[in-house]
Order: sequence, then C-alpha cells, then structure tokens
Amino acid sequence: MSAAALSGSCHCGAVTFRLATRPAQIVKCNCSACRRYRALWAHMPPDQVDVTGQTATYSHGDKQLAFHFCRRCGATTHWTPIKPQPGAPWMAVNLAMAVPDQIADIPVRHFDGAETWRFLD
Ligand SMILES: [Zn+2]
Repeated sequence: MSAAALSGSCHCGAVTFRLATRPAQIVKCNCSACRRYRALWAHMPPDQVDVTGQTATYSHGDKQLAFHFCRRCGATTHWTPIKPQPGAPWMAVNLAMAVPDQIADIPVRHFDGAETWRFLD
C-alpha cells in the first residue's frame, strides 16, 4: 500500500491501521456495543485498509461482525464482517485511534443502531 491517507494505532502501539483513502464520514453509533466503545467508525472496503499487529475479537448477538481490540492495551481498533454480504464487504476502523487534528474536518453522523437502524440527521 502506498502512502497512507490516514492512520491510527491503539494506545500501546501494538496494533496499527493505515487507510489508502480518506473516509467521507465518521459514524457514531448508539448500539449496545458501540455506545460502550465510544468508537468513531470509518466504514471502508477492506482492500483500502492495512492492519498490523495481533488482536483479540469479540462478537455478540447474531454474530454479523467481530470487534477487534488490542490484546495488550484493550483499545478497540476495528471491526470486520463475520458473514460478508455479497457486494458489500465492509469493515470499519475506529478513528478514535487517529490523531484528533487529522480527523477534525471529517463530518460525524449519528447512527441509531439501538433502535431504528437509521441515521439521526
Ligand atoms: Zn495496544
């Protein structure tokens, strides 16, 4: 992958990610997992993301996706689909792992993952 458009790392630095393209938006979700992680999700095609380092995973409910976190410091770095949907193989990285100045201009959208499964704006 060439020069990263954006990058981030967990608190201890053991897990890093680099994005080949800059995301158009950040999604804050209020579902039972995301409200606890307080993540700033950037949804990306997996071929635009390069992750290094070892993670542990957690999934719940219907097990559509796996949350990845650093085995050492516990920071939630990204999620990946367990059962990718045809034509929509999305993953998401947690831009709370990026330097705040580098994501300040990316619009934040609030997603109601708890109930309606729609954006609230
Ligand atoms: Zn770490």
